[in-house]
Amino acid sequence: MFKKVLIANRGEIAVRIIRACRELGVRSVAVYSTADKNALHAQIADEAVCIGPASTSDSYLNMKAIIAACEITGCDALHPGFGFLSENASFAAMCQKCGIEFIGPSHEAIEMLGDKACAKETMKNAGVPVIPGSEGAVRTNEEALEWAEKIGYPLLVKASAGGGGRGIRRINSKEELIPQVEIARQEAKSFFGDDAVYMEKLILNPRHVEIQILADKLGNVIHLGERDCSMQRRNQKVLEESPSPVMNPELRQRMGEAAVKAAKACGYYNAGTIEFLVENNNFYFMEMNTRIQVEHPVTEFVTGVDLVKSQIKIAAGLPLDYSQEDIKVSGHAIECRINAENPKLGFRPSPGKIIALHTPGGPGIRIDSAAYQGYTIPPYYDSMIAKLIVYAPTRQDAIMKMRWALSEFIVEGVDTNIDFQLALIKSEAFESGVYDNGFLNTFKFDE
Ligand code: ADP
Ligand code: ADP
Ligand code: MG
Repeated sequence: MFKKVLIANRGEIAVRIIRACRELGVRSVAVYSTADKNALHAQIADEAVCIGPASTSDSYLNMKAIIAACEITGCDALHPGFGFLSENASFAAMCQKCGIEFIGPSHEAIEMLGDKACAKETMKNAGVPVIPGSEGAVRTNEEALEWAEKIGYPLLVKASAGGGGRGIRRINSKEELIPQVEIARQEAKSFFGDDAVYMEKLILNPRHVEIQILADKLGNVIHLGERDCSMQRRNQKVLEESPSPVMNPELRQRMGEAAVKAAKACGYYNAGTIEFLVENNNFYFMEMNTRIQVEHPVTEFVTGVDLVKSQIKIAAGLPLDYSQEDIKVSGHAIECRINAENPKLGFRPSPGKIIALHTPGGPGIRIDSAAYQGYTIPPYYDSMIAKLIVYAPTRQDAIMKMRWALSEFIVEGVDTNIDFQLALIKSEAFESGVYDNGFLNTFKFDE
């Protein structure tokens, strides 16, 4: 096992990883920007190193400063969390060169899967069903026209290097095609530093259902059931649950097998998520995320597996603690992302000082957060301040538990989306389980 792990991240996920290290008897090193001097992760780690100013490019994305921090503190491994450098293949390669174990897949796997067009081709060749679309990237306008004829409208143009719900444009007709593809290329270039785009059919009323996998370095791959992330705002997840209300044992088995096949097709190890769209009991591969996901706690609740500890053990070369037969999905878990933002003002971020904080508790309630009373949320980073996760024997019980947990949750000093989440959890659509990825676009929130 490692002696010391550097956590190249901030916020709740950094705290989550520090806790996993402690439980494994591994020392932890936090890195922080000057704006995060008082952040929880910098306080609870065994050691903390300042890596630069507030701007992310100078701190949490500053590869050299982070590697230097590993060397100064004598870390033998690094956990990237999610976002920031977690899906950066050159950073993973740099860690390897410096003798620091990157807690994630190989840099080759990150590179291949990070190119979403290329990942789709690999999966298709491995026999995993994919969303119909262009074969690889679309380079010229002529190619775009040809593919559009084959795919039909409406369709989506997506940045090959995209992520975080950005870099996706809908195209309704031939007239829109060339101008939209050109805008998509420019956006892809400016957001992701790569102008490659690909095209795919717009699935009309799909649900986002993803499969969690774990794979060790010895070639064992297992899946841990699904998460339903169909509650999305602008292609970004808002609320997640496991199991999915649209799942049945037969579909779960087919999707799980496809996910394992997908991981094996690219020699994958560590934790990963294969994202699918589901429509009428059919599923299509969308992309693979080569890191821990924000919504991993719902899977931890229904399977009893600690995914972050598993990641660290896998990176240390240990075999999986579980075989596929050991994994039983039981009960129901729901996660609400609690953000410092104002839903009535277009979800405008609301940084500032938390004057009072009361978090819910009781059986089956988990809070993953780096917030505390008196903490000032800086304006430079993500607005997610906590994740509230509940677990109960049935979906109906979990909804009830979430309802009361949300109403107990008090944050004063900044605006939050707690009332929005409460309205959502009480909505007829959520309760029935019958909705699709487009639902939140039309959901009226006026409390
Ligand atoms: P998930 O919720 O499934 O873990 P998200 O797509 O919400 O994944 O991404 C997790 C975090 O990583 C978010 O903070 C998101 O903004 C960020 N992120 C993901 N991909 C990228 C990317 N390519 N560029 C910038 N940020 C990203
Ligand atoms: P990101 O890398 O930003 O996470 P994804 O490719 O995973 O991008 O897509 C994000 C979301 O966009 C999906 O969860 C889904 O809601 C929507 N989406 C993506 N592709 C399609 C598609 N072909 N048809 C319909 N919706 C889609
Ligand atoms: Mg995605």
